[in-house]
Parts: sequence; C-alpha cells; structure tokens
Amino acid sequence: MKTVLVTGGAGFIGSNLVRHLIRAGYRVVNLDKLTYAGNLASLKDLEQDENHIFVQGDVCDGMLVLELLHRYDCDAVINLAAESHVDRSIGSPGMFVRTNVVGTFEMLEAAREYWHALSEERSQGFRFVHVSTDEVFGSLGDSGSFTESTPFQPNSPYSASKAASDHLVRSYHETFALPTITTHCSNNYGPYQFPEKLIPLMTLHAVEGKQLPVYGTGLNVRDWLHVEDHCSALRLILESGRIGDTYNIGGDAERSNLEVVHAICQTVDELCPSDQPSSKNIQYVRDRPGHDFRYSIDASKLSSELGWKPSVSFEQGIKDTVSWYLSNPDWVTSTREKGYHGQRLGTSANS
Ligand code: NAD
Repeated sequence: MKTVLVTGGAGFIGSNLVRHLIRAGYRVVNLDKLTYAGNLASLKDLEQDENHIFVQGDVCDGMLVLELLHRYDCDAVINLAAESHVDRSIGSPGMFVRTNVVGTFEMLEAAREYWHALSEERSQGFRFVHVSTDEVFGSLGDSGSFTESTPFQPNSPYSASKAASDHLVRSYHETFALPTITTHCSNNYGPYQFPEKLIPLMTLHAVEGKQLPVYGTGLNVRDWLHVEDHCSALRLILESGRIGDTYNIGGDAERSNLEVVHAICQTVDELCPSDQPSSKNIQYVRDRPGHDFRYSIDASKLSSELGWKPSVSFEQGIKDTVSWYLSNPDWVTSTREKGYHGQRLGTSANS
C-alpha cells in the first residue's frame, strides 16, 4: 500500500481527493491547518478509517512536514493547501502570499530533504504533485483556450500567488531534479464546497429565497469540472504523469455565470417548487475588480497522453450537486459557522 501526504485535505477538493485515494487503496496522511475553509465534517465518514491519518498543522511549518514524511514513510505528496477565494485575496492578500507561496516553498524544501534521504529505488518512485489553477493564465477574449504552454498572466492576488508557487515547483525540478508535476485545473464544483463559492452560494440562497448576487453583466465565462473528475485526473497524473511536466485539466463545459445560476435555479425549482421562480431574485452587483472575462482550458494533452476524460456532464453534475446541498443541512450549518462571508464584493447577498 502506498502512502500519500495530502495537504489541504479538509477543504473542498482535498476532502473529495482523500476519499477518492482511500477508495483506490492508498493510505493518506492529511495535513490541514483547518482555516475557515477546512472542515472535519467533510471527512466524517473517514473518522474510523485506519488509512486516513489527520494532522492539524500548517504547510509553512517545514519541520512538521519533514517529520510527517519520515514518520509515515510517504511515497508521494499532493499539495492542495491554499487560500483559494479570489474575493478574499482582494481584501487580504498577505495570507495568500504566506500560505500559497511560502507554504509551497516549505513543502518543496521538506520534500527535497526527504527525497534525498530515500533509497535509490524509493526515490525513483517519489512524486510531488502540485495542484494549481487555470487562473494563472489570465483572461481570454471570446475565442481560444489555455494550453500548457500559455504564458502566465495572473490578474488577482490569488492567481498571482498560485503562479508564484508554480514557478517555485518548476524551479525545484529544473534545479534539484525533484520529481514534480504541476496541474492547472478549471473551476470545480460538487459536494463539500465552502458555501461562499458561486455554486453552493447560489444554491443555498435560491432555496432560502435570498438575493442571487451576480457580478457585472453575468457574462463572464468559466469552464466547469465535477470534483470527482478532478480527483480521477489527479490520481492518474500521480500514477502515470510525466515527471517535470504540467497538465491542464478541464471539463469541456464552458458556461457564463448567468447560465450557471439559471441551471441552479431550474434544479432548485424542480426540487422545491414554489409560486415564483427562484431566478426572480437574481441581482446584478458591482463587478469584482480585475475580474477575468473568460477561462477556457485545452485538456487534450491529458486525454491523449494518459487517456483521461471527464465522466460527469455539467447538467447531471449540477443536479446532483444542488441535491447534495439540500440533503446535507447539518454540513451546511457547520461550515457556515466557520466564518462564512455570505456576500460578494459588490453587495451584501442578504440585502
Ligand atoms: P479550499 O479553500 O476549499 O480548501 C483549502 C484547504 O487548505 C482548507 O482545508 C484549509 O484549511 C487548508 N489550508 C489553508 N491554509 C493552510 C495552511 N497554511 N496549512 C495547511 N492547510 C491550509 O480550496 P479548494 O477549492 O479545495 O482548492 C484546493 C486547491 O486546488 C487549491 O490549491 C486551489 O488553488 C486549487 N484549485 C481549486 C479549484 C477550484 O475550483 N476550487 C480549481 C483549480 C485549482
């Protein structure tokens, strides 16, 4: 059995990934600081699982990371821990530099020292997979897609901090030959996403009859990928990805924000019928500064080299996701208690 150190495993993608890896036969050491975005309720079903070892701690604590790598004899690292919310990065960029840049540096240093101490055979199998975002590539117009060779042009403190961490990862491969792989994924959705992000926020507000705050014209476009498909791509890349390389991961499901909100409203209206359609509460709010217009990801390298493709259609994924949030009110309450913003930059979502 292989052991993977996953960072940020109490967050949205991390908790889904921990579950995915354990089901696939891995032992997971889950290092998470439990910031407002981390929630042990997202891992409740794994509480008694001997293949899940949870450690509360900070990726900026390099000594702790090194100690965990040795103590659990790890075969790989998947680095997801991050400050991840663009709106929060506009209000408090310092935390993003600390966790996303300094934290990744500390992870790399610990991994390098550990990797050097491994036997030749073990060191050849070791991997450091760094999970990044398509936002590092900046903003597109109406046409074109990001490939792995698109230059970085980050526009928010969040995407700039992720781009900086990606450069550090690249440099540790080029300079020290650390066996790294970096991924750039489009917007994820699915169960256990913190309810200040677009899809859970709109779902819960639609059900609660609150305003649905849409930035600007609502025409900004994102590519959407179900989190389970992201997890399957990450496992495949961990097992078969090319060392020193980068892979785009995307859902081939571009939608404007307004289309996403209407899809949510339609599902909410089907599941919780009421006199008025929930879309009546759509409210256009002042746009986010530096709001990228369009992201589009070309994931053909991942499909041609490793045979991956997404398995969940956007339409089905949205229905399942809305249904999940409606069926898990206890999780929603416990998560909101951890510092839920409940508003977008332009306005209070409750007003
Ligand atoms: P999230 O905000 O839901 O979870 C982040 C987790 O990291 C939380 O559990 C938090 O407690 C933990 N964390 C934060 N600071 C930490 C620190 N200093 N030390 C240890 N743990 C810390 O984020 P997410 O949406 O699950 O994203 C996970 C990763 O995937 C991030 O690196 C993000 O950039 C990347 N990503 C996300 C998306 C997306 O759509 N959500 C898309 C592409 C890439």
